[in-house]
Amino acid sequence: MIATPPLIDMRQRILGLDHKVPLLDGRRMPYVNLDNAASTPPLVDVVRAVEAFMPYYSSVHRGTGFKSRLSTVAYDQAHEIIGRFVGADLSTNTVIFGKNTTEAINKLAWRYPLGPDAVVITTQLEHHSNDLPWRPRAHVVHVRALPDGRLDEDDFDRLLALHAGRVALVAVTGASNVSGFLQPIHRLARKAHVAGARILVDAAQLAPHRRVDMRPDDDPEHLDFVTLSAHKMYAPYGTGALIGPIEIFLKEPPEYRGGGTVDVVTLDEVHWAGLPDRDEAGSPNVVGAVAMAVAARTLMEVGMDAIAAHEEHLIAYALERLREVPGIRLFGETDPARAHEKVGVIPFNLEGVSHFLTAAILGYEGGIGVRSGCFCAHPYVVHLLHLDDEESHRWRDQLLSGDKSEMPGMVRASFGCYNNTDDIDRLVDMLKKIARHEYRGSYVLDRASGEYRPHNFHEPLEEYFLLEALGR
Ligand code: PMP
Repeated sequence: MIATPPLIDMRQRILGLDHKVPLLDGRRMPYVNLDNAASTPPLVDVVRAVEAFMPYYSSVHRGTGFKSRLSTVAYDQAHEIIGRFVGADLSTNTVIFGKNTTEAINKLAWRYPLGPDAVVITTQLEHHSNDLPWRPRAHVVHVRALPDGRLDEDDFDRLLALHAGRVALVAVTGASNVSGFLQPIHRLARKAHVAGARILVDAAQLAPHRRVDMRPDDDPEHLDFVTLSAHKMYAPYGTGALIGPIEIFLKEPPEYRGGGTVDVVTLDEVHWAGLPDRDEAGSPNVVGAVAMAVAARTLMEVGMDAIAAHEEHLIAYALERLREVPGIRLFGETDPARAHEKVGVIPFNLEGVSHFLTAAILGYEGGIGVRSGCFCAHPYVVHLLHLDDEESHRWRDQLLSGDKSEMPGMVRASFGCYNNTDDIDRLVDMLKKIARHEYRGSYVLDRASGEYRPHNFHEPLEEYFLLEALGR
């Protein structure tokens, strides 16, 4: 059994870990958040920095007062810090802030030059956000996943050769939000470059767990574009970033036009601003950018290698302990000795218990937050579940008729840098109870959402945070 002490201890640096939440049996327990792949709680450093910044917050770039100048410096520095975080050469690359990874990839899909014959190679492992934006813009082909969920790199090579001369971009996730598998991004970058294509790495899931290094522009394994989401990096203030070559964004006018994107406008002419201004239309989310930069700096100071080592230990421990749960089916990598091949995302199902119900019981009776379903990656989840065409069609028809009750899916436990083995022990204990049908609640299924809620249970939100009750 792997049970060495945690290699880093981030627990004091994350907000709210000691806060207790109500359980179905009336007890209150500290919440165990194992849904970090969706969103992480904030770093104390981030919240403090935002509080320190707020009294000085003002409009950026166009104001002239002290607070505007201070905010402008903070906003500009945030761009530089995010550039450093991903190892970008900022003399040739730009950092564009936006809402999140989804927005960043959609932006790139509009801004990246794609001719009528262009092929974008993406993969079956992608989050919908790195698949759907490309579909209306190019001929999109998907690299297959192997039966265990790993990328089939032979298929990647085959598709690259098959579409030789037409591949404009390879768009691939750095780490899967379903299985946690790390992609060989630098090797894929080398192959993409040889084929005359560029590469986008969706680092939403990678950046909180591993060092992202775009490497010098002339390195054959350079990453051309990287996208990030701050809410997965302990800074949930509504920011994401797209990092990529300035020359690409200078080629065409921005897709969103308006205030902040121009140098000069007459009634007949528009002269677009330089970067990043031309691609950050409207008043930017300065607070979000500051928060994201503080998070990136904190992660760099703690050290991404230390974070990776800590999480690797947690994954190995979890894979080892989860085996004790009767009837558990783990997906993706299940060997603790290969924990280094993934980030801390573990998908599973319990035999005979719906993933929706398992997740509900974990939440209501265990005070453990996980996620269940298809995780915005339908093709990949269908693949991992080995569903045949008939089963997927039946499920699709049911879903389209407004009934999600039999939607296939999995439960996903995902770790952050602050989780520890106690969190995993609580998960395992609760799963054992569910597997033995020793849970207390009587759960009611809502067919439209697929979710289960305990019968006759009032969640006392007003004692915690309820907008309507604030200040009363
Ligand atoms: N890509 C991956 C791999 C993700 O995990 C997510 C979020 N689950 C996204 C993209 C989308 O990120 P966001 O919701 O922040 O736009």
